[in-house]
Amino acid sequence: MNFDKEVFLNNLAQTTQQPYLISIERAQGIYLFAPDGKRYMDLISGIAVSNVGHRHPKVVQAIKDQLDKHLHIMVFGEYIQSVSNELALKLTSLLPASLNCCYFVNSGTEANEGALKLAKRYTGRTEIVSCKKSYHGSTHGSLSVSGNEVKKNAFRPLLPDVRFIEFNNPDDLQAITDRTACVIMETIQGDAGVRIPSNDYLLAVRKRCDETGALLILDEIQCGMGRTGTLFAFEQFGIVPDILTIAKAFGGGLPIGAFIADKQIMESLTHNPALGHITTFGGNPVCCASALATLQVIEEEQLLAKVESKGKLFEDLLKHPHIREIRRIGLMFAIDFDSAERVNRIVQVAKEKGVICYWFLSHPYSFRIAPPLTITEEQIREACDLILQSIEEAD
Ligand code: PMP
Repeated sequence: MNFDKEVFLNNLAQTTQQPYLISIERAQGIYLFAPDGKRYMDLISGIAVSNVGHRHPKVVQAIKDQLDKHLHIMVFGEYIQSVSNELALKLTSLLPASLNCCYFVNSGTEANEGALKLAKRYTGRTEIVSCKKSYHGSTHGSLSVSGNEVKKNAFRPLLPDVRFIEFNNPDDLQAITDRTACVIMETIQGDAGVRIPSNDYLLAVRKRCDETGALLILDEIQCGMGRTGTLFAFEQFGIVPDILTIAKAFGGGLPIGAFIADKQIMESLTHNPALGHITTFGGNPVCCASALATLQVIEEEQLLAKVESKGKLFEDLLKHPHIREIRRIGLMFAIDFDSAERVNRIVQVAKEKGVICYWFLSHPYSFRIAPPLTITEEQIREACDLILQSIEEAD
């Protein structure tokens, strides 16, 4: 085994100046285990991925079963593979009727890239409207529609014809016009520090898109898959997007994403040009098996039913004078403090105590909590106890 820190720092590309730097040998449920046996509670699910816990036995079994059948056999969209058929059927059965056609990809950013291209191709328009402070991914297209200007400047020129509006501000919606191909929006802004829009706002966005013929892309890559208490967050707002993007928790720990739309919209990728969007590994059968089992686990174990009460328990237990604000929907939290330095210290002390909380990309005054939905009440009590101790000790 090789947990050499120098190899990690020198032979693996680094993108942060302060990597979290714990060594992990194995993971199970809500726990990560270091080689020396130290146990960490993973309160962030590997950034909203392990919603059914790490290595859920049914997910692992489905992966093993698929390994015995076949791995990659052909690029997306050419051969008929049972497991991708089954996944598409299952996923669309859980979605509104107009979201009936799935394009499987490998990651969140790719799902958004595909969705943006689809909207441009279908509408014949070029303008994209996105939100300030949003995060949609790190490849050129997704970066272009992400709202963090500091993260973009070194990589310009990016996509032209992108307009930014303020999230949750209905006054900005007039920027959506009949020039707009699509509006891309996180239903709940994640890396901006869990920003929850009003119901009226999302209804107004939907209405404005309908008036202008712009397609509405909802990015549920972070807030989807049960995180907010419904399988998809948009269900709580009474709207349906034209294109939905998902990834992260969708694969139950393996890399798979999807953009999903009505067949009539999706069909525009088949002509002018043919092969309008292609991917070699998208819909990899092992990842599809894992995703299918993950959806089944969420359903069979009725995980959604308890998300709200578990979230509320966290919120009730996390009372401390240093906590400025808690923003929460389901089991997706931002815990606000007075400074980024304090947040840093708390996250470090919590790490020593075996609890993983973590930063947000674009909101340094908060740390995040997004535990596996399988977390028990007892584990929540223990976690909150350790977090409160960390807040005290980080003073
Ligand atoms: N959209 C949202 C809302 C995200 O939170 C993320 C990842 N943090 C992405 C897109 C990009 O996903 P990926 O890292 O899989 O490319």
